[in-house]
Amino acid sequence: MATKKKTTAPAPPSCSVCQGSGEVSHTVHVGRNRRAVGQQAGLCLNCLGTGEAPTD
Ligand SMILES: [Zn+2]
Repeated sequence: MATKKKTTAPAPPSCSVCQGSGEVSHTVHVGRNRRAVGQQAGLCLNCLGTGEAPTD
């Protein structure tokens, strides 16, 4: 008697850009020298913040 695994919907692949977090960090530049002052989290434009790899 075979034990049947309960099949669930496969987990969607994580976005390769944000690693599934839905956010990416952008380096913030200020001033004439475009000095980098830090990083700011922003919406991942690859998955639009869902954290899932787009299928199309
Ligand atoms: Zn993403």
